[in-house]
Amino acid sequence: MAETRKIRLPNDPKPKQWLAKDRSHQYIASYKPFNMVDGEGVRCSLYVSGCLFNCPGCYNKVAQNFHYGHPYTKELENQIIKDMSESYVQGLTLLGGEPFLNTQVCIKLAKRIRAEFGHTKDIWSWTGYKWDELMKESDDKLELLSYLDILVDGRFLLAKKDLTLQFRGSSNQRIIDVPKSLAEKKVMIWEKLVK
Ligand code: SF4
Repeated sequence: MAETRKIRLPNDPKPKQWLAKDRSHQYIASYKPFNMVDGEGVRCSLYVSGCLFNCPGCYNKVAQNFHYGHPYTKELENQIIKDMSESYVQGLTLLGGEPFLNTQVCIKLAKRIRAEFGHTKDIWSWTGYKWDELMKESDDKLELLSYLDILVDGRFLLAKKDLTLQFRGSSNQRIIDVPKSLAEKKVMIWEKLVK
């Protein structure tokens, strides 16, 4: 009889089970300025360290470790602001790792970007949390969400992997217009979505 292999699924946290204050060491896995793959236009991307979803097939497994990389510093923040001031840079992208388990860093940077550039630059973030899960989450996660323009939500699911999708790896993930979704109290998909 053929053996059926059980495919492991990502972890599913209960609301507020994972908190940045208990988990984050405010470490950065990588900073990639002037890239064109992490969202629309030319972007500066900050990869934070630490994620607990443990999705099989994770694109950045080393960054699941909260100690991976190096500490976030004021010097790095100043460099990001300098890079973002270039007129051809459309915005900042937060990814990882899990930005919502590193809210100390991500909120600080997002606030500075709004203070320096207002809404002339946009902020995108990826997360393993689903939108509905975030709605039941801790205040710091909701605060970070309030600074975002676009959220790509949900775990990476190998069974739904599709490399032809815009800006996401599996078809369960969504590109969400955050201000519209918060205003409408339901998920509103990015209006420029092609696939
Ligand atoms: S949520 Fe993203 S970073 Fe975290 S394990 Fe899944 S694919 Fe990797």
